[in-house]
Amino acid sequence: MPRLSIEVQGVVQGVGFRPFVYRIALARKLVGWVRNRPDGVEIEVQGGEAALDDFLRALRDEKPAPARIHAISSRMIEDHSTESVFTIRASGDSIATRPSVPADLAICSDCAVEMDTPEERRYHYPFTNCTYCGPRYSIIAGLPYDRPRTAMHTFPLCEACEAQYRDPSDRRFHAQPIACPVCGPKVSLKDANGVLRAEGEAALQAAAAELKSGRVLAMKGLGGYQLLADATSDSAVALLRERKHREEKPFAVMFPDLDSLSRACEVSEAEVVVLQSMEAPILLLASRSGVISEGVAPGNPNLGAFLPYTPLHRLLLGLVGRPLVCTSGNLSDEPMCIDDEEALERLGDVADAFLTHNRPVLRPVDDSVGRVEAGALRLLRRARGFAPLPLPVSLEAPVVLAFGGHMKSTITLLTGGQAVVSQHLGDLDSPQGVSLLSGTVDDLLDFFQASPARLACDLHPDYASTRLAEHMAKERGLPLVRVQHHHAHIAACIAELDLRKPALGLAWDGSGYGTDGTVWGGEALLVDGPRYSRHGHLRTFPLPGGERAVREPRRSALGLCWEMLQDDAAAADLFSAVELRPLRRMLELGIHSPRTSSIGRLFDAVAALVGIRVGTGFEGQAAMALEFAATSSKDDGTYGITLDDGVADPTPMLQELLADRRHGTDGASLARRFHASLADLALAFADSAGREDVILTGGCFQNRLLASLCTQKLSNRGFRVRRPALYPPNDGGISLGQAWVAAQWDQQFDLGV
Ligand SMILES: [Zn+2]
Ligand SMILES: [Zn+2]
Repeated sequence: MPRLSIEVQGVVQGVGFRPFVYRIALARKLVGWVRNRPDGVEIEVQGGEAALDDFLRALRDEKPAPARIHAISSRMIEDHSTESVFTIRASGDSIATRPSVPADLAICSDCAVEMDTPEERRYHYPFTNCTYCGPRYSIIAGLPYDRPRTAMHTFPLCEACEAQYRDPSDRRFHAQPIACPVCGPKVSLKDANGVLRAEGEAALQAAAAELKSGRVLAMKGLGGYQLLADATSDSAVALLRERKHREEKPFAVMFPDLDSLSRACEVSEAEVVVLQSMEAPILLLASRSGVISEGVAPGNPNLGAFLPYTPLHRLLLGLVGRPLVCTSGNLSDEPMCIDDEEALERLGDVADAFLTHNRPVLRPVDDSVGRVEAGALRLLRRARGFAPLPLPVSLEAPVVLAFGGHMKSTITLLTGGQAVVSQHLGDLDSPQGVSLLSGTVDDLLDFFQASPARLACDLHPDYASTRLAEHMAKERGLPLVRVQHHHAHIAACIAELDLRKPALGLAWDGSGYGTDGTVWGGEALLVDGPRYSRHGHLRTFPLPGGERAVREPRRSALGLCWEMLQDDAAAADLFSAVELRPLRRMLELGIHSPRTSSIGRLFDAVAALVGIRVGTGFEGQAAMALEFAATSSKDDGTYGITLDDGVADPTPMLQELLADRRHGTDGASLARRFHASLADLALAFADSAGREDVILTGGCFQNRLLASLCTQKLSNRGFRVRRPALYPPNDGGISLGQAWVAAQWDQQFDLGV
């Protein structure tokens, strides 16, 4: 009888792959075995030739949805066995050299049907899961991934669950978080003082009633506490905003089902696939008016929409029967709460009631956020469903730990041919944010039993992430590689797409520490492997009052006009005389006015000049408003930005725009022309650099219109446009780029610092 030896590489552990192999072998009456190996699974299988062919086909085509196969290789071997059955062999101890931590998965369709069926013992059970779905990363304490090392270790299995757990033909064979109403976690409803109000089904009913009457509910979800409110009620949304101290930043909305989601948003087939995938991220969709309260995403034509991804969400949304605002349980930009006591303390003034349960959440995992462009998913926030799945990297490198940036922070551990990027950790302005970052460092090092040989961080000396990296470098006597912010942005894209050729990278964002004492953000860098040189940049202008300009776009307008026109009259009327005097003084004396080449600040300046937005509630709000205005316009004009010796001068653009404004051209057309002129600039940079591959990244390329205009212009001229997809173009991707650069660092080369 022919016998095959097969190796499967990829993410195939903790996703029900071995039981799947067992079943397809059994169905074809094949004998042999399957076992885990460090980077995948190993199979030996024996039987008729046709059956073996069909087995290989099934291995590829019918694999469990959460499995990711990087490579399958098979070869004929000698028949040396005497076995008469197919078995799942235990993995040896030597197995954990290149482990992977599985990501949390949305409820699968089998489990959904089961919990909707009254005859099933898991009918309406809020913690139903199986080998193919349910919590993973958020409940794992250590590797290898086994129940005793999860948050489920305090729930001994009942007889019925035990039998399923042991049965290789069952969907719950080795499902570590397996649970049922008899042996598993239970929900309860507490008031804002922590007093128990109801348990089980009654708790869900009472929670639904709270939401229906316009109150705010804190709910312990998969990766931490969330805040929920009726998204169709203006007063409920206003109440949540007021209590959460979040004035205008858009909220995401969870819909009971696809039907209700389609009534509120335009959704394509490709978007439906992503919404219903096991990652089930929040997707930014074009919203239809009239369904969701205006207060959910004021002035924003898009809505962050998603579907219930845990049994608990499904039950609650089913009872309420309306879309709900579903946002991280925190105050402004702090990390989300995972601990029950802490949640009561921190969210007691925000929520009227707490829907909670007794399964601990071991680490906060936020919802991922993305957008589908030209059929492909692009993530803006990478967390639940994606983190901490590894990215294969083709580098022979020492173990590197990279600490990331300051906003939207992540860390990256590069080890054993893979880069593990943490979940989105949020901003590092609060002590909670910093302690989450350092906890995540311990977490990843512990999971992978890794000991870094070098560390990486940003050039910015004042980032909390830089200080943590410096501390660890000193403590452990390790080299610390400081990677320039925009270089890291571009390197992250190179790492993700495994680009080998020298390329031009356009990294456009709000701000990053430059090597020349200015604040960078409109950069054109030539990259060759881990090295870069600065090919060009936006002409710099001063920001009166520095950081304050981020929250006050009119300050960027003042600095821009001052510099480019030597006349600030066009921006001066955005200020009162009392406000203006000290700012002009700063500009005259050149004090408290850092110079920047930031395209993000250019966006702010233009938004203020166009009259679209003067103040701002959150970073990027003015730029977003400008994008939305431009998107609504069909104007095909453009303005001049000259490129001379690498310096992009927006003076002609500014003059033409102000002339148009005087002539009464509408704001949307001005905004559109501004976008078009930036796309022309991208093309001018590419022409002057002469590299076929052009990378577009940085926070500005979250702007869908800018990205598509630049892509069109560049592709039409024959350039190959490269953009990050599953690692965000914003600062969430910084740690990946840092790790990739630092991995190749040696004493010989200068990082330009
Ligand atoms: Zn399932
Ligand atoms: Zn049970």
